[in-house]
Amino acid sequence: MNRKYRSAVIAANWKMNMSPSIVKAYAEALKSLIGPARWCDIVICPSFVTIPTATKAFRSSRVSIGAQDVSAFDAGAYTGDVSARQLAETGARYVIVGHSERRSRFGEDDLTVGKKVRAALGANLRPIICVGESREQREAGVTENLVTLQVKSALAGVPDAQIRRVIIAYEPIWAIGTGKTPTAEEAGDVAAFIRAVVRKKYGARVARAVPILYGGSMNEENAQELLMQPDIDGGLIGTASLEAEMFASIILAAKPDNT
Ligand code: PEP
Repeated sequence: MNRKYRSAVIAANWKMNMSPSIVKAYAEALKSLIGPARWCDIVICPSFVTIPTATKAFRSSRVSIGAQDVSAFDAGAYTGDVSARQLAETGARYVIVGHSERRSRFGEDDLTVGKKVRAALGANLRPIICVGESREQREAGVTENLVTLQVKSALAGVPDAQIRRVIIAYEPIWAIGTGKTPTAEEAGDVAAFIRAVVRKKYGARVARAVPILYGGSMNEENAQELLMQPDIDGGLIGTASLEAEMFASIILAAKPDNT
């Protein structure tokens, strides 16, 4: 992490877990474990239906609430979709866009991801844009080409004035939910590469300010090493965010004294 230019972001992706009924107890436990936690921005992304309960449970704390997806459209006949404006009204401040599960299981392509990023920014939500390669793509040596394409498409049409609100998460698909991770150096190298892609488009000052997270089986054991990488500014955490104790350990690992 380079704290001179950007703050750390530790974000939880609860996926389709955690009902509104258990959020209050989780919130109380997490708040007492992390205390004021001024060293990082903490984000929890529950299912749509849990957002209002989570917003209330974490009110007046360091924890902000995000969504896991957003409609590419503003309003209208899009049954089942939730617009960025609706999310913002419900209490969300962030939204995950282009998660690999949305891409692979719901057919979301780069063009749609770009539309969702613009929709999120239009409603003042901070998009957490997920990019990353499959095992086959890694073995074929196309990781850099792929993430370049993913980052460029996601940022297409994002003006300079809004780019600083963007967060990018490097999530190798083969590491998500598998217990496998790249080495910290390998993950750091891809994060540095992503920053170079942002630099080419928006210049050095902007690239320095955009937080780049690592996601994929991050846990209390490997978090500190991953977070020590100069271009990794935080984590997007699935499985290890479902228990308040485990998620708190990762937040504590981002504390500057520990890095
Ligand atoms: C994710 O789904 O974004 C994720 C990183 O999951 P996990 O931490 O379980 O690998």
